[in-house]
Amino acid sequence: MTDLSATREFIQSLPKTETHLHIEGSLPWELLEKKNPAKYASQPSFRKDSFRYDSFEQFESILIDHALDWFDSPESYYEASKLIFAKQIEQNVKYVETSFHAGMMEFLKIPGEEILEAILSAAPPQLEVRVFLGISRNAYTPYLGPLLEQAIETWDSLAGIDLHGLESLPLEAWTQPFWKRASSCGKILKAHAGEFGPAKNVEQAVIDLGVRRIQHGVRASESEKVMKLLLDEGVTLDLCPISNYKLRVVGEFEDHPIGSFMNHGIRCTVSTDDPLSFNNSLHQEYEVLVDKMGFSAREIGRLAQNGFEVSDLEPDVRASWQSQIIGLVDNVCSVDE
Ligand SMILES: [Zn+2]
Repeated sequence: MTDLSATREFIQSLPKTETHLHIEGSLPWELLEKKNPAKYASQPSFRKDSFRYDSFEQFESILIDHALDWFDSPESYYEASKLIFAKQIEQNVKYVETSFHAGMMEFLKIPGEEILEAILSAAPPQLEVRVFLGISRNAYTPYLGPLLEQAIETWDSLAGIDLHGLESLPLEAWTQPFWKRASSCGKILKAHAGEFGPAKNVEQAVIDLGVRRIQHGVRASESEKVMKLLLDEGVTLDLCPISNYKLRVVGEFEDHPIGSFMNHGIRCTVSTDDPLSFNNSLHQEYEVLVDKMGFSAREIGRLAQNGFEVSDLEPDVRASWQSQIIGLVDNVCSVDE
């Protein structure tokens, strides 16, 4: 795909998924601007294409500052989600997995289930949305612990849980049994691992927590043993190349291991992570793969298909999106030949 406009058109035409998206980190800038025009009239430097963060801590503190300026109630989650989902539809996204941060229940002193329902009720009919609870490695406090237990046991609309936050914090003793209980309650298990932490963290998430959906997992590329584990256990990596570049998880886009993972047969998907912080779109994530990493139409199609393969959709719905993707790829490849 050498023609830029043909590439763009092809990416746009593909039915797509987002399977790694933080709702607070997706806050549309225009909402901040609407709420406080004086403060947010101009775009800050961290939203520039060329901007790269110095550390995870810097990224996290900027994100939290901005998110707390908007999110203060279930209604604020509803309003933000409405706009976020509308942007997804414009990009031909059909299925979204998004998480909200469990810590917000404590910051805002509002019931988490109301946040969950606010996000779900903002989903338009043409978009399937699944909501996860994002839980930091040190979140099981006397305040949040009982709420987390309640979430997995009684929030029927909660799709799953996702381990979040600073990866240098150790996995605490409560985590393994909690992830196990969540699984027995029918929840999908995810974990952020191998982003700033070593390949060992990915192995720990797969073996100790029983996770088959790793968020990032970039540094699994440093261990042949861990890559083999991912393949053997059918683990999916929900990757976000622009996030990895801007947070300096990789040096250059060309160094990103997504191509190598795919060559190893490991299932990968592509998502945006935190568009508030990176000012990225899903479309741009795919474009970067073509422009900077030389991905072919077939590889791009494979990634889009993978998103549906791991989705929590009915098998016939999944298959129908996948066959549409195959048709679009065959079409673009026959034009190229
Ligand atoms: Zn993430």
